[in-house]
Amino acid sequence: MTGKLYVVATPIGNLGDISPRALETLRSVDFIAAEDTRVGARLLSHFEIKCPQISYFEHNRRMKGEYIAERIEHGESCAIITDAGTPAISDPGTDLVALCAARGIEVLTVPGCCAAVSALSVSGMDCGRFTFEGFLSTNRKSRTEHLAELKTERRTMVFYEAPHKLRNTLRDMRECFGGERRIALCRELTKKFEETRRCTLAEADAYYAETPPRGEFVLIVEGCGEAKPPQENADLLAEVGALIADGLSLTEAVRQVSRARSTPKNALYRAALERFGNEA
Ligand code: SAM
Repeated sequence: MTGKLYVVATPIGNLGDISPRALETLRSVDFIAAEDTRVGARLLSHFEIKCPQISYFEHNRRMKGEYIAERIEHGESCAIITDAGTPAISDPGTDLVALCAARGIEVLTVPGCCAAVSALSVSGMDCGRFTFEGFLSTNRKSRTEHLAELKTERRTMVFYEAPHKLRNTLRDMRECFGGERRIALCRELTKKFEETRRCTLAEADAYYAETPPRGEFVLIVEGCGEAKPPQENADLLAEVGALIADGLSLTEAVRQVSRARSTPKNALYRAALERFGNEA
């Protein structure tokens, strides 16, 4: 009987985030395909799991994919893991999943951490609609072309970023989207120095010009639909302020103004909160 492929999410920093089902799966499969078997070994040893590993990464994925699929067809079950988070999300896994699916092998998810989703959830940005952009290119021309394509993107945008590239990325984002655009820089999520900095692109650019970026980052950038010209924003906030002065709560005032002026509620709510504070 054919085995199964399990796509298993692992923690993005805090080992306490592994799920009981991930542990059970890693204990019960016949072998694990790991992006880096040394990282896999540390995880398995921490949880006292004994399971043979083979490596599966960007440069051996063609050959190893065939090999893994054949073993599964011969009845073994396999779990794929990466160094952190969910396989196939800016990580190896996509090809193996596609190959197994094409061969009629059952592919099951064992969900858990994903840096993109974790960052979105603490960003305070509109999470109703978002687009995942992964890593920007290290090549400036490709990076600026990628950003230019996003100039009129209305959805919240999610980027993965390495610390040594952050300054260049912030400079290019500021040039492309404008310094007023809001960004949440989510750093070292679930780890000791976890931090989320919510500011404008101009502020982020200035801050990291002075402070060396350290750790892993997810950047959450608001879509262009939310950015209002300063005067328009000021008018909307003045209307909210007038309603609050009339005795409405901040939430209700924002709701009424956003409906009357057809403007996104979340952005106005954040701006109103900054201007009038929680107690309004
Ligand atoms: N597959 C992974 C996932 O599900 O999130 C992502 C792998 S990708 C190669 C690694 C990138 O994810 C890092 O460069 C960083 O942008 C982001 N990342 C991973 N762990 C993170 C953390 N603890 N805090 C912030 N960003 C993190």
